[in-house]
Amino acid sequence: MTPSYARLHRDGGLRRRAAAALALQSPCRLCPRACAADRAGGARGRCGTGTAPKVFRAAPHPGEEPPLSGTAGSGTVFFSGCGLRCSYCQNHPFSQGGAGVEIGCGDLAAVFLGLQARGCHNINLVTPSHFLPQVLAALDEAAGAGLDLPLVWNTSGYESPAALALLDGCVDVYLADMRYDSPAAAAAYSDAADYPAVNREAIAEMWRQAGPLAVDARGIAARGLIVRHLVLPGGAAGTAGVCRFLARRVSREVTVSLMAQYVPCGRARDDPVIGRPVTPAEYREAAGRLAENGLRNGWVQDLPAPGGAAAGRAAPLLGERFECNLPAVGLSPAGRIGYNHAVTVDRRVPAGGGEEAR
Ligand code: SF4
Repeated sequence: MTPSYARLHRDGGLRRRAAAALALQSPCRLCPRACAADRAGGARGRCGTGTAPKVFRAAPHPGEEPPLSGTAGSGTVFFSGCGLRCSYCQNHPFSQGGAGVEIGCGDLAAVFLGLQARGCHNINLVTPSHFLPQVLAALDEAAGAGLDLPLVWNTSGYESPAALALLDGCVDVYLADMRYDSPAAAAAYSDAADYPAVNREAIAEMWRQAGPLAVDARGIAARGLIVRHLVLPGGAAGTAGVCRFLARRVSREVTVSLMAQYVPCGRARDDPVIGRPVTPAEYREAAGRLAENGLRNGWVQDLPAPGGAAAGRAAPLLGERFECNLPAVGLSPAGRIGYNHAVTVDRRVPAGGGEEAR
């Protein structure tokens, strides 16, 4: 299937958008922090980054959601820095700690092409928002050199309307977090009281742009929105409110990945609410919220075994971080939602009609 950005590459749209994004970077208002850092002048904003793309790791990832990882892996590129400051971030060494290597846009394009050469199913940009101009420039260069994989925008969901407007038509799959329902929780754990309002607007826009998840003949994601929701201890993520919003303001058809992998790490270890793992009862209750709101497309996970990550052992950084309950289909008696194969088949992207099945 031809990726969305191919047309924008051909008509010069990617180049123009990269220039427009660059204008948003100094003073910087690329993300909702709008901290006005003069990044072109060498300043670093709240996300801690300058103008050179900084990458921690790029590699095929076997542990993303099934239509992303498929059989050959998702081509993940983990960017350093982040506009959010989550106290429990498992990626702290590079999201907030500065680890990573600064490269040029041409190098980034070569990274994309390298992942394609390794057989990855897509290019999966993890927390890329603060490098939007550089990503668009690299995408333009890579498309000119033969990149034709779907582009996955793997985001905290804290995106500005201006950034999303520049991504319209560039992104094939949005893989976006909904972290909180309440401003108080967002302020306490991510220093971003405006997260719920910003995030809801962003999710609605992503749905408008990408719509429901569609897969190709092999079951690989070709287009659409996948919402990730990490269950937090003590109901801190506001799962009920998040599910209600999705069902009422987005669509019951939206695909939801309900994540069980919360680990109390970093500053969160000492927190009175989130300084412990999620209990099985809490996770079951969260899964029940999906069901009671009619959200039937997506996945739930098994909680890590006692003594595993959720019992306090740090999860291996960038290791197998996602285990899906395949091949469960639909809602099981235990309240478990598996990948909804029936819907997937219905929405399969046709292999004919001028579009090549990958
Ligand atoms: S992307 Fe970084 S520098 Fe730009 S507004 Fe957000 S936090 Fe500030």
